[in-house]
Amino acid sequence: MLYIYGKYMPLRWLEEVQRWKQQEAGHALLIQQTVPGLEPEYVKLLKEWQEVFTATGQCAATWIRELLPIAKSIPPKAAQQVEELVKNSLAQTREFVAQLDKMLKNSAAIAKNPVSRTIVQHIKEESEKNLKELAGKTKLTEWELRDDKSAQPVPVGGHTLPPLPYAYDALEPYIDEDTMRVHHDILHKNYVNGLNKAETELQQSRKTGDFELVKHWERELAFNGAGHYLHTLFWDTMSPQGGGAAVGPIGNQIEHDFGSYDAFKRQFSQAAEKVEGGGWTILVWSPRSHRLEILQAEKHQNLSQWDAIPLLPIDVWEHSYYLKHQNKRADYIKDWWRVVNWPYVNERFLKASKLQWVPY
Ligand code: MN
Repeated sequence: MLYIYGKYMPLRWLEEVQRWKQQEAGHALLIQQTVPGLEPEYVKLLKEWQEVFTATGQCAATWIRELLPIAKSIPPKAAQQVEELVKNSLAQTREFVAQLDKMLKNSAAIAKNPVSRTIVQHIKEESEKNLKELAGKTKLTEWELRDDKSAQPVPVGGHTLPPLPYAYDALEPYIDEDTMRVHHDILHKNYVNGLNKAETELQQSRKTGDFELVKHWERELAFNGAGHYLHTLFWDTMSPQGGGAAVGPIGNQIEHDFGSYDAFKRQFSQAAEKVEGGGWTILVWSPRSHRLEILQAEKHQNLSQWDAIPLLPIDVWEHSYYLKHQNKRADYIKDWWRVVNWPYVNERFLKASKLQWVPY
C-alpha cells in the first residue's frame, strides 16, 4: 500500500480490509474442501472463521459505500471507526494464524496427506504475510499528517502525486483496476518526478545564469507539467457515480454553446478518437469568448501546461519581427521588453490568481 493517500487513507484501508478478508474467507473454505476426512471440530472452526471473515469484508464494503461520496472530508469519528475495524481485522488474522498452526500440529487428517499439508501451510503463510505488511501502519495520526496541506503554494520542485479520489477498482467494469494502478501510481508519478526535476534545474540556471540547456528543461517543464496537471484533473473528472448527460450550469452552457448535449458528445468523441498519436481531448472554458470549446492536445507538451493561465506572451513567429529585425530574434526580444505593458499583466494576474485549485 502506498503512503501518499492523506485524507483518503481510511478508504485505502477499507479497500485493503475488503480484499484481505475475502481472501481469508476463501482460504477457510478451501481447507474444508481440500482436506479429506478433516476432523469435525476443525470443520466447525473453519466454518465459523468463514462467517467472521465474510462479515468483516462486508462491513468494509458497506463503509466504502458510505464514505465514498464524502471521501474528501471523512469525519474524524468515522476515521477512528475505520481504524478500529483495521485493528480487529489484524487481531482476527493473528488468531487465525495461531489456530492454523495448532491444526497443522494436531490434525491427523492433515498430517497424513502431504498435499493438504502444503495447502494449509501456504494459507498460513499468506495470512502471516498480510500481518507483516499491514500491522504497525494503522495509526490514524499517519493519515492526518498529510491531510491538512490547506492552500500552501507548491514550492519549486515540490509537486506531489495527488491521491486517487476513489478505490482503484471503483471504475470497474469500465476502467479496470490494473490500468488504474499503473496509470496513477507509476505513470502519473513519473510526470510529478519529471516536473520537479525540470523546475529544480531551471532554478539552478537562474542562480548560475547558465541557460545552456534552457530549451531542454523548458520542454521537460511543459511535458511533465501538462502531464501532472492534466492527470490530476483527469482523476477528479471521473467517478464511480459518474456517467449520464451533463447537468446543472455546465449542462446548460453545453446546450447553449454546442446546440445540444448529443452534438457536444459527438464532437468530443470524434475529436478524442482522432487525436493523432498520444494526447488528450479537453473541454475548455474560454474567458475571452465566454464560450465552451473542445480542443485536441496532440502531444500535450507542445501546448503548455494547460492548467496554467497565460499572463505574458511573446510572439516569436518570424512574422512578428522580420520586417524590422530580419532574422535577429534576440534583437527583437530586447526591443520587445521596452514595450511590455506591466499594468495590464498585473490586472490579468490579479484576476487569474483568484482561481486556486488544491495544490499538488
Ligand atoms: Mn495518462
